[in-house]
Amino acid sequence: RWTCVNGKLLPTEEALLPVEDRALQFGDGVYEVIRLYRGTPFALKQHLARLSASSAAIMLDYGCVENELQASLEAILQKASGQDGQIYIQVTRGTAIRNHRFPEHTRPNVICTFSPLPAKNAIQLLKTVTLPDERWMHCNIKATSLLPNILAKEKAYRHGADEAILYRSSEHITEGSSSNIFMVQSGTLITHPANQWILNGITRQYVLALAKSLQIPYEERVFSLQELLNADEVIVTSTLQEIAAVVEIDHHPVQNGCAGPLTRRLHEEFMGSLSTEWFW
Ligand code: PLP
Repeated sequence: RWTCVNGKLLPTEEALLPVEDRALQFGDGVYEVIRLYRGTPFALKQHLARLSASSAAIMLDYGCVENELQASLEAILQKASGQDGQIYIQVTRGTAIRNHRFPEHTRPNVICTFSPLPAKNAIQLLKTVTLPDERWMHCNIKATSLLPNILAKEKAYRHGADEAILYRSSEHITEGSSSNIFMVQSGTLITHPANQWILNGITRQYVLALAKSLQIPYEERVFSLQELLNADEVIVTSTLQEIAAVVEIDHHPVQNGCAGPLTRRLHEEFMGSLSTEWFW
């Protein structure tokens, strides 16, 4: 595993940041997780565009480190050559004496890490539980402050599940603790609109693009807990989980505990035709 910290490439175990880094003290940073398939990043352009948007949303000057990040990415990609894995990028507001106000003369700290991952082809089957969405009102920002997300994930694990499906009210399912949620209703794919209540996942966007090109009907609209429980299929999407089938919600089986036909089709298309325009 390799990490670039502010342009310096090191084995990850040796990479360090100062204790006064703002992400450590306040969760004051933004990040991205990018999947590498045989050394090639998936949807790098889209991930970097989202990183830039997240930075702008928290008033962090990404422009001043953009070139350095590009150079770090190139160095990391060389180390990753040909491997499957993930790249983690974090841009923090920098190092400064602890004070809630933004520091005046601090440049962002930039971390870029490569970790290998096993290549996998089989569709994942996930058990889920529903939990209240206790996050703030800007879930579209990929910020490093993730306490509500990790608490929800941990509660899901303690209930014997793999992922938490979050809701603002019984009428409003949002997304997973680290994923987006789709349901299938009579052949139509339905997912939450891309607004402040969810992170607009790159995998989510890819699935919608796939649906469009395969002429699968889809809707971006809010749906209820009842609709979720009555859905024909429920799908989890994220960079690391790719397209996974939900087989249980709150201990009730979905699709008889198997991946449904549309889930399998989307997964097959995803694995088989990782379209070149999404590669950089
Ligand atoms: N929603 C949340 C809250 C996430 O943390 C993630 C990924 O980590 C996603 C959705 C999926 O986004 P992506 O497909 O870009 O990985």
